[in-house]
Amino acid sequence: MSDIINLLPDSVANQIAAGEVVDRPASAVKELVENAIDAGATSIQLIVKDAGRTLIQVIDNGCGMSDSDARLCFERHATSKIHKADDLFAIRTMGFRGEALASIAAVAQVELRTRQHENDLGTCVVIEGCDVKKQEPCTCAAGTSIAVRNLFYNIPARRNFLKKDTIEFSHIDEIFRRIAIVNYNVAFSVHHNGKLLYDLKAGNKAQRIASIFGMGASERLFPVEESTDIVSVEGFVGKPEHVRKTRGEQYLFVNGRYIKHLALGAAVEKAYTDLIPERTYPSYFLFIKVDPSRIDVNIHPTKTEVRFVDEHALFAIIRSATKKAIGQFDLATELTFDQPESLDLSPAPTGYIPDQPKVSFNPNYNPFNTGSSFHSGSSFRSDSGSSPRTIEAKEHFFDTTPETESQLDFSEPMPIEAKTPSISTTEESSPFCFASKYIVTTLRSGVVFIDQQRAHERILFEQFMNRKEMTTPAGAQQLLFPVNCTFSPSDRELMNEMVEDLRRLGFAIEPLASSRGTFVVSATPPDVADSQLQSIFDQMLADYKGGVMQKFADRDRILCLSLARQLAVKCGTALKTVEIQHLLADLFSCQCPNISPSGKKIMYILNETELEEKLK
Ligand code: ADP
Ligand code: MG
Repeated sequence: MSDIINLLPDSVANQIAAGEVVDRPASAVKELVENAIDAGATSIQLIVKDAGRTLIQVIDNGCGMSDSDARLCFERHATSKIHKADDLFAIRTMGFRGEALASIAAVAQVELRTRQHENDLGTCVVIEGCDVKKQEPCTCAAGTSIAVRNLFYNIPARRNFLKKDTIEFSHIDEIFRRIAIVNYNVAFSVHHNGKLLYDLKAGNKAQRIASIFGMGASERLFPVEESTDIVSVEGFVGKPEHVRKTRGEQYLFVNGRYIKHLALGAAVEKAYTDLIPERTYPSYFLFIKVDPSRIDVNIHPTKTEVRFVDEHALFAIIRSATKKAIGQFDLATELTFDQPESLDLSPAPTGYIPDQPKVSFNPNYNPFNTGSSFHSGSSFRSDSGSSPRTIEAKEHFFDTTPETESQLDFSEPMPIEAKTPSISTTEESSPFCFASKYIVTTLRSGVVFIDQQRAHERILFEQFMNRKEMTTPAGAQQLLFPVNCTFSPSDRELMNEMVEDLRRLGFAIEPLASSRGTFVVSATPPDVADSQLQSIFDQMLADYKGGVMQKFADRDRILCLSLARQLAVKCGTALKTVEIQHLLADLFSCQCPNISPSGKKIMYILNETELEEKLK
């Protein structure tokens, strides 16, 4: 019997491989633009016709190729980026499989013009479905231009499979954004059917995001920054009040490359628990740097999926960095996208290897460990406990690093001259209550209006949540006469489930053996009147059973929020000066002073420019 095994001709093998690398115009765009970036280009033009069906052209001012490389680059496994298997683990460039150009050339008509900067003449190569039609010297700009025409011209099945132009172009657009955001130090332009869609100047991260997503982006984002031994995280996360109904604006970059990573994405979203409604999604643009040997990028052909060695640690760090950004990013320093010097976002040089960042992250940081605020905070009526901390103290607080924060003693008003020269100390203003509803005071950035009820809800909520983490309840008050509360048979079961949580919140509560459905309470958290007890528990049960607070997954949060809501000072209560001072001090010691535990804005700052605008 004669031999039956044939080696596939290259053209066929390339067509098969092409299906993996280039499945639609957007993937060709990705490969070509990434090659341009790898070539060190500082300016890249993308020209597209008919959503890439007719033409995809990428012109760069990168290093260009020699005559022989210009021919060789279309061979399979032709790459200048890997020499030996070990290189795979240290890879920092975009492509490295050496398959892209071969695959594209297998399924399109390609014209390459390239010139190295030191040469006068460049090379032009025309190749169609793997056949080199022409290679000759040519005059052209330094750098490389690759025009890909009639993609899939020789695979009608695939060509017919392409979606409407609008859809194919939206894929190109998304691919382009992913590359352009993280390569903010490269200038880009994009034309589609002769129309200029993007004209992006080289800049910093913030400017790039603003020029792609609109200047309004600056109002919607908080900056994030965290640096530890294993990872550094920088970027921006959306303010809770600007969540979206889809996951559209979520970008995660690792070592300069866009990636998809379910767990890390979830880490960001987790930081918004309590702050945003269910089925809404925060925006984020996070730029993560890890040691390249701690990731494996080669697990997926299009390389958007990666695996991390330190995934658990990364998860925790990203979540806490995001939380910190949301909670502490301040009222005073609003993010300004047109002031690049306010955020040091200078671009990393190409081939940048992050060195081990130093630890400045304190996972145990807890503002409530600072002096006496914990025990007295919830009580407006008690005169003991912390003396009022001024709001300036908090402004100073924002300027300190986490390590020093935990050692700060707030029992005395903080001296403010040290690091915050911009605070005007001359205007002595005491906060006051307006309309029995809002507290009005001044910050260095403007006049701030604080919803007293929401503020108090936030304070109590954080105090209760902190109590949950402690083993013995703090600040419980003994009742002179224990109070009996009674529950229906079904509520009885729930009460039994909740009893441990209630104890940690400061209730001393026991089921009464002699009478089923009755619980006896002998101590309560501060400021709970015994006459309220039954109704407080009833409300907690109702909240627990669902209804209003469906969005919380765990019972702890539901109970803390329920109690915080019930005990918070209501609108319509005119607060006394000392109460206002306590409230402000406690609010600004919160992790999240801006947003109430049910996700509503606590404060509004009227700044000078806005005021001038209004008075025009
Ligand atoms: P890979 O990028 O994985 O190495 P490609 O098929 O995309 O494989 O490219 C093959 C080689 O062609 C690259 O390694 C690089 O040397 C060269 N090349 C491709 N595009 C460019 C460009 N725009 N400028 C300079 N060299 C390029
Ligand atoms: Mg490549």
